[in-house]
Amino acid sequence: MANFIAYNQEQLMLLPLNIVEMIPEDHLVHGVSTLVERLDLSSIYQTYKNSEGGRPSYHPLMLIKVIFYAYAVGVRSSRKIAAGLESDVFFMYLAAMQRPDFRTISDFRMAHLEELKELFQQIVGIGMTLGIAKIGHISIDGTKMRASAGRRKTKSKESLDKLEQEIEKEIEKMFDEAEEIDEQEDRLYGDKRGDGMPKELRNKEDLIRKIEEAKKKLKVSGWKRVNITDPDSRFMQDADGGIDMSYNTQVAVDEETQVIVANDVTSEVNDHHQFIPLYEQVIDNTDKKPEEVSADCGYANGKNYMYIEDNKIDAYLPDQMFDKEMDKEGTEKLGRYDRRNFRYNKDKDTITCPEGKRLVFKQKLKKDGIESCIYVGQECSDCRERVECTRGSARHIKVSEVDGIIERMREKLLTEEGRLRYKKRLSTAEPVFGNLKKNLGYRDFQLRGLVKVRGEFQLMCIAHNIKKIHKYVTSQKGGGGSGQKRQKTENQSSFLENLKGIGSEKTKTLFFRLIVPTFGFSRGGGVVI
Ligand code: SF4
Repeated sequence: MANFIAYNQEQLMLLPLNIVEMIPEDHLVHGVSTLVERLDLSSIYQTYKNSEGGRPSYHPLMLIKVIFYAYAVGVRSSRKIAAGLESDVFFMYLAAMQRPDFRTISDFRMAHLEELKELFQQIVGIGMTLGIAKIGHISIDGTKMRASAGRRKTKSKESLDKLEQEIEKEIEKMFDEAEEIDEQEDRLYGDKRGDGMPKELRNKEDLIRKIEEAKKKLKVSGWKRVNITDPDSRFMQDADGGIDMSYNTQVAVDEETQVIVANDVTSEVNDHHQFIPLYEQVIDNTDKKPEEVSADCGYANGKNYMYIEDNKIDAYLPDQMFDKEMDKEGTEKLGRYDRRNFRYNKDKDTITCPEGKRLVFKQKLKKDGIESCIYVGQECSDCRERVECTRGSARHIKVSEVDGIIERMREKLLTEEGRLRYKKRLSTAEPVFGNLKKNLGYRDFQLRGLVKVRGEFQLMCIAHNIKKIHKYVTSQKGGGGSGQKRQKTENQSSFLENLKGIGSEKTKTLFFRLIVPTFGFSRGGGVVI
């Protein structure tokens, strides 16, 4: 006869008295809860002005735990988070069974997007204190994430002007019709009030406002086209070749543990200007200069090479021609008419080509603060080898003040060690984007405008780091978080035990706080339901 575990939905105690008993001892919620307790939230607290009356607000500590956990498990819709607070034991535990509605969650997140930068920095600091992020080898990389903006709403200045005129005409027409209706209604109802501005008119006026903002953006940025829905987003090509309205997200990642130690979002289509801000953010966030940095050739530009040289950074940054000028074995290909086969004559300030002909100085250029000189061939029109040498009517050679630095960088990258160090990039930043995009499903932004999008990306990076820190701390004890292990006495999960062992005085104070009853918490940190 079959043997089943007794099943009775009518039993009195469906849930245990203490909800924490349902949660595995090494579960991520403990990590989120403990880490958030360690954060200095004063910048958020000081935005509350209801100390002298008014309804008490939900505690920011609770809302932050709930939002961070939601992002760590790939949930970012405030409606889904609110639903989780009613049905998901992990959310219920973090919220101490409180149930803020979706609007409260959404408003809280929106109101504190800018403070997230500071919280991200604090979490990186905790990772450093725990000895997780070593800041040995750092990789800087970027990926495009779709904006919350339709591509068809991207217009040129001329299209915006035309659209604005059309809408203004429509508004004018609506006003004329409204006047007529008013007169009719006056005749019908006398002095009784109407119902204010019609919705259609309000929509049109909103659109006019958006067009004006988009036009302002075009003027300030110098772009050729702008999106009306999200004027900060731009057409960008992603890694698969697809083109859409997007933002360019940037991370600097610690090689050993894949903790994100700096992040940013930009409207710039390429990565040329992102190396220095990211590198400096790493130092700001960690108080440590990385031992090595790698980035792909998308970050190569003269200013970055100069910065690397001036600051004596052990960087692995190939120039944009590096891959093209290498063969499959990783040795440099050097064609007869490669620029490196042209010789400079200092005395005459000319260049001699492989056929012994002259190139003379034409002009000086300055881009991003880096000077370069252009030399042009004088006898190319009669040259038999011209098609092999240039696509134009005369060969041009650019000599830049960073050429020497690029040459030294190439030499370093071509060594066995250099190759290995540059390769570390593949197993550092790319898995982070894989986690964010594939595992957590963050391929696009839900918010609009660069400031808000930056906040949203901070949340994604915070979620990633919390998971990394939690995994590291639990692994120190050999815990894996699997199975429904019962809580030990006083709810001392191995996560907390590890944190107690590793952390500072502040950590110990926190540990004490966690096991002593505070608002809404029973002894042991659980909640009585
Ligand atoms: S095209 Fe001009 S630069 Fe090139 S090999 Fe001929 S002469 Fe020299």
